[in-house]
Amino acid sequence: MKKLALHWKILIGMILGIIFGFIMNSVDGGKGFVTDWIKPFGTIFINLLKLIAVPLILASLIKGISDLKDISKIKSMGIRTISIYIGTTIVAIIIGLSIVNIVKPGTGMSEETISKIENTFKGNADVMIGKAKITQDAGPLQALIDIFPSNIFFSFSDASGKPAMLQIIFFALFVGICLLLIPEEKAKPLTDFFNSLNEVVMKMVDLIMLTAPYAVFALMANVIIAFDDTSILIKLLGYAVCVVFGLFLMICFYMLLIKLITKKSPLWFLKQFSPAQLLAFSTSSSAATLPVTMERVEEHLGVDKEVSGFVLPVGATVNMDGTSLYQGIAAVFIMQVIWPEGLTFTNQLVIVGTALLASIGSAAVPSAGMVMLVIVLEAIGFPAELLPIGLALIFAVDRPLDMCRTVVNVTGDATVSMLVAKSLGKLSTPKPKEWDDNLDKVI
Ligand code: ASP
Repeated sequence: MKKLALHWKILIGMILGIIFGFIMNSVDGGKGFVTDWIKPFGTIFINLLKLIAVPLILASLIKGISDLKDISKIKSMGIRTISIYIGTTIVAIIIGLSIVNIVKPGTGMSEETISKIENTFKGNADVMIGKAKITQDAGPLQALIDIFPSNIFFSFSDASGKPAMLQIIFFALFVGICLLLIPEEKAKPLTDFFNSLNEVVMKMVDLIMLTAPYAVFALMANVIIAFDDTSILIKLLGYAVCVVFGLFLMICFYMLLIKLITKKSPLWFLKQFSPAQLLAFSTSSSAATLPVTMERVEEHLGVDKEVSGFVLPVGATVNMDGTSLYQGIAAVFIMQVIWPEGLTFTNQLVIVGTALLASIGSAAVPSAGMVMLVIVLEAIGFPAELLPIGLALIFAVDRPLDMCRTVVNVTGDATVSMLVAKSLGKLSTPKPKEWDDNLDKVI
């Protein structure tokens, strides 16, 4: 019998998780059961993905750079990557702003609805504002300073266990370039080491992915039990549909680029890459999805390691097209509801600039986009006293929209890696590996 493809298994896991979540929502003690007995399996899965992210970035980037054999290629790859990332992000913001200005989902919301939403979510909004304050208090060049680590072991994990991706990328580039600058026979032991580490981590991705259909079941059931007040969700439907439609247009835009520039079939791309998209949707985190994104792009889409090892980790950190599209729509929606006088053309231009910077500064974790929205709103002089109400307004639908925008974030990274690979002649026929390719030799 033909084996069911991984993306179908994950999809079935997600659908069953959603159904199970709804059933548990309606039975006594169901929510507690999901939190205590189901959610932990989703958490374990995300932990495993995060566990391998750092060794994966280190190994694949160091190996990739040392394979390039030519330092000038690093420069051209860097310039192409960053320029295309900025280009796609600007397209995303413009799509978002166009939709929200045409549809105007924020006009006509009643005072009663606004105050109901405010009362329900003001506490959550305050937490977001508090988090944004920490970012704002930093000096203007802090983001630059933060790229250069003083101790690489601290970069692997901060106090809360989060790795500093850009610092690790910098370190890996530094090591990779120095490996190119020393005689080949001296470099060989270290390149062999990272090559082997890379193979091992890729195998780990394959093994972890065997559990993905079960993990997404747990993650989706947990998402569903968090929703109870559907009446508010319905009031925000217009806004949510605008975001989802914009995200859909963004995926169409990527597929057009894939077709026109790489000459590959968009359907083939989606089929190969869908497991990463489904995980992005279930975890709401491009950072947690990164190992799977890398495995899919290298082994199933045919992008050489030297390109994917650089473009994808950088993209997971700085390229968030879905997030910036959402920020454009959310900022204008909030203004339409509670600050219509702020809806000027200049303010919308400021939104393009700040949403671009905010997407670079957003962490690749759930809800990061909403924290950075505070900075976008403050840049246009949004009244401070209205800020908690503004954020409260969109909080109820943030999680489902976060899931959708994370899909776009990872698809954007994969698309750009295909474009950069094509332009450097580094796109080849994919050679997918299975978890059990070598199994018969060891049992
Ligand atoms: N959750 C998103 C990501 O990880 C970031 C965001 O938009 O909140 O890509």
